[in-house]
Amino acid sequence: MKKLIVQKYGGTSVADPSRIKNVAKRVVETKKKGHNVVVVVSALGDTTDKLIELAHQITENPSEREFDMLVSTGEQVSVALLAMAIHKLGVEAISFTGAQVGIITDTAFTKARIININTKKIEEELEKGKIVIVAGFQGITMDQDITTLGRGGSNLTAVALCKALGGDVCEMNTDVDGVYTADPRVVPNARKLDFISYDEMLEMASLGSQVLQARSVIFAKKFNVPIHVRSSFSDKPGTFITKEAKTMMEDVVISGVTLNKNEAKMTICDVPDKPGIAARIFKVLADEEINVDMIIQNVSRTGFTDLSFTVSKSDLNKTLRTAKKIAQDIEADKVIFDEDIAKISIIGVGMKSHPGVAARMFDILAKNKINIEMISTSEISISCVISKAKAELAAKALHTAFGLDKKEKK
Ligand code: ADP
Ligand code: ASP
Ligand code: MG
Repeated sequence: MKKLIVQKYGGTSVADPSRIKNVAKRVVETKKKGHNVVVVVSALGDTTDKLIELAHQITENPSEREFDMLVSTGEQVSVALLAMAIHKLGVEAISFTGAQVGIITDTAFTKARIININTKKIEEELEKGKIVIVAGFQGITMDQDITTLGRGGSNLTAVALCKALGGDVCEMNTDVDGVYTADPRVVPNARKLDFISYDEMLEMASLGSQVLQARSVIFAKKFNVPIHVRSSFSDKPGTFITKEAKTMMEDVVISGVTLNKNEAKMTICDVPDKPGIAARIFKVLADEEINVDMIIQNVSRTGFTDLSFTVSKSDLNKTLRTAKKIAQDIEADKVIFDEDIAKISIIGVGMKSHPGVAARMFDILAKNKINIEMISTSEISISCVISKAKAELAAKALHTAFGLDKKEKK
């Protein structure tokens, strides 16, 4: 049966000309099976990081519009090169930027939200028998300003295109075989999962597992877009993300461990302990489009209290400026921050019905002499902020203690 397949290839999969040729071969093979193929590509290798570094060599505080103008260029290079590589194989293909295919977003530069996709152009080219290649990670506002969709945003481009075009599957081709119980680079004994539910995947992605961008999972869940995470370098099936995954291991309490080293902790010291103050602080941060993750406020004994929260390191400078301004306005004391933190989390739907999971987690950390700085929980996860230096140790210890290690050694 003829299908419409959306295939996304991440940065490592298109890092150099030989890998781009490998991707071209895979895309053509899919096309030759009789399917329509829409390809979404990321920037080559670590191009996006390099572009961000470049911007910061010019200024610590680049205009967000110009930042997006700059970082979106990476994907334009990859789509053109991939189209050329496919042409070389004698197959018709055409590349487009996000703007060209009408990926319309709001104006939240650096993390824009997609408002609409005009699929006409893509459908016309598919109709002509061409492979359509779309630059990931980018869109355009109604005012014709180029935007980007947040780090890992090519995943969102792929999922959104799959939904808009009524695709049969959204394949995320990457440098691992699928979704594992933990990052296999950090925990060598991690196990590949054949299935995972949207909810668990979302929790893993939100808590820092970089394999998929969290926003792309939210979108996929909302519109029921079937995702298949698999390797760009093999034909083996990877991990299927579905609604009611007979996941992982239903009777198992914990199904994954994630580590996030991309957050920083900020503390506003001596905040007056009055009604409305927290609302005021977090309203200003929200107005600046700063996503706050964990929040902790101590009991006040003196009429003042320290308020700590974590934000993405990419928002650190902006948050620091904003927090200092707020501290002044509300007559708090100084603002301090710590970049050397990591958030370690355990995830599993099973914890809903198993008490004592948090206690076990804290005990495992304690036995490994790891101090807990902040704690937060959701229905299906528990997270602790710890020192970055202990991050890998914590991930391995929890993975082993909760019985996730693969049985036989590699
Ligand atoms: P791409 O360039 O294809 O988008 P990323 O580097 O963004 O790839 O994401 C893939 C990486 O995610 C893997 O190389 C792996 O190190 C990391 N990762 C983190 N957690 C997990 C997990 N639970 N399962 C698989 N990979 C994970
Ligand atoms: N190139 C962008 C990034 O590195 C988008 C992506 O790869 O998904 O974040
Ligand atoms: Mg990625």
